[in-house]
Amino acid sequence: MTPASPVAPEEFKLFIHGESVDARSGRTFDSLNPYTGRTWARLADGGPDDVDAAVASARTALDGEWGAMTGFERAAILRACGAAIAANAERLARLEVNDSGKLLREMLGQLKSLPQWYYYFGGLADKLEGRTIPPVNANYFGYTTREPVGVVGAITPWNSPLLLLTFKLAPALAAGCTMVAKPSEHSPASTVAFAEVLHEAGLPAGVLNVVTGWDRATGEALSSHRGVDKIAFTGSSATGAKVAQAAVANLNRVTLELGGKSPQIVFPDADLDAAANGLVAGVFAATGQTCMAGSRLIVHADVHDALVEKVVARASTIKLGDPTEPDTEMGPVANQPQYEKVLGYLEGAAAEGATFACGGEPDAERGGLFVKPTVVTNVNQHNTIVREEVFGPVLAAYTFRDEEEALKLANDTPYGLAGAVWTKDVHRAHRVAAKVRAGTVWVNAYRVIAPNMPFGGFGASGLGRENGIDALHEYTENKSVFVELTGGTRDPFQLG
Ligand code: NAD
Repeated sequence: MTPASPVAPEEFKLFIHGESVDARSGRTFDSLNPYTGRTWARLADGGPDDVDAAVASARTALDGEWGAMTGFERAAILRACGAAIAANAERLARLEVNDSGKLLREMLGQLKSLPQWYYYFGGLADKLEGRTIPPVNANYFGYTTREPVGVVGAITPWNSPLLLLTFKLAPALAAGCTMVAKPSEHSPASTVAFAEVLHEAGLPAGVLNVVTGWDRATGEALSSHRGVDKIAFTGSSATGAKVAQAAVANLNRVTLELGGKSPQIVFPDADLDAAANGLVAGVFAATGQTCMAGSRLIVHADVHDALVEKVVARASTIKLGDPTEPDTEMGPVANQPQYEKVLGYLEGAAAEGATFACGGEPDAERGGLFVKPTVVTNVNQHNTIVREEVFGPVLAAYTFRDEEEALKLANDTPYGLAGAVWTKDVHRAHRVAAKVRAGTVWVNAYRVIAPNMPFGGFGASGLGRENGIDALHEYTENKSVFVELTGGTRDPFQLG
């Protein structure tokens, strides 16, 4: 049972064609604040009918005012969106904290950096150039243009809703696409408020629509919708595979940003204090609920004990508590199913013979959905805790003896989202970075992203890339145009 809320929950409707509307069914669902355990928001429970309306609105905008705009006009709107996000950063960050229990200081930092994405992609919106292609046959002039893919369905997870929406929305708007966004049922509120903010900033009606819904059928309706041209998905690899199948059944384009089990390789010459700090950033920041969590520590046997000792010392002082307090370092796990999943992995690790150098259990003193920062030792590459994504504050540490073995262990995973190499040897740093099979590799750092650096995964971590100039092309079609120059006719039975 949900404890009674002392204040009435905030209400969030669907956002379709520039207006806040109820779900056609009239149903709503509640969002729980994982820190207080109370219902804090009430959301419209949109279903397939609402997805239909949102897709129709996105198509109308694409065929209308938005589709007719020049890149210069879209760039100006993107810049206005960036400024509006900056002005509303604190309010939007608090909505995310209420929904997910993530730290206010982290979400505020994220929201304050989001305008950069709209400025960066705004800067590209008026540079979507084609090419002129030298002729094979002098009777023809050939050129290419970049056109918007069309209506994009964006499906996002609960861990960083607005950042992960922005990875899709900023390039999609720059390319001239329109969008229907379906945020996670566990953290839906901020996306609705975000769409309202962008609309007030000048984004025309229908360009960004939001359908929230409790049932997974809402996401299914979007990923399989015939009126959508592309699906951009972030979430688990299991759901990603289903979403991709639904999209491909309509021969739609798809990009997938999925899970990870990212390695942090530490060589004996590394600055162990810096590495320990990077390990804490990689797996305890955001309560480990990030796709790029550096959840596997692959450390040279000679420095294993010294490094684990440093990480444990810092992990043991991490301040758990109210995510809105400025000195809190770790909030609760974001929702009950995820909490149970994390505890299940900890029990499984113990059953497989692992040792907890610290943590390994819920924070009984605090109660609620808090799990202690955990370092697991006495494991190898065959253990479940080393192979599967926990999506919680759990680091698994195991050892190597030489560079070849380190790489073999690092790449022994179906995932390939991110990784790090810690060493002072510049030759080895580049050698190892080149051989780690992952979309992003940090050298002596962890958890750094930027709007202009591609982000995405090898293998089970995804398809395609977000961020960077190439992300723009994920939202365009390349069109070839041949122009006959002589005004004559040719043999109709001959090609070319
Ligand atoms: P999830 O896969 O359960 O859900 C993601 C979204 O898909 C939600 O909006 C959900 O409602 C929707 N959905 C569920 N079933 C669907 C279906 N059959 N068809 C269409 N949509 C459906 O993931 P989650 O638990 O919300 O998020 C955690 C996962 O996301 C982790 O695996 C994490 O690694 C991954 N993630 C990846 C990145 C990245 O950029 N690679 C970033 C953040 C999170």
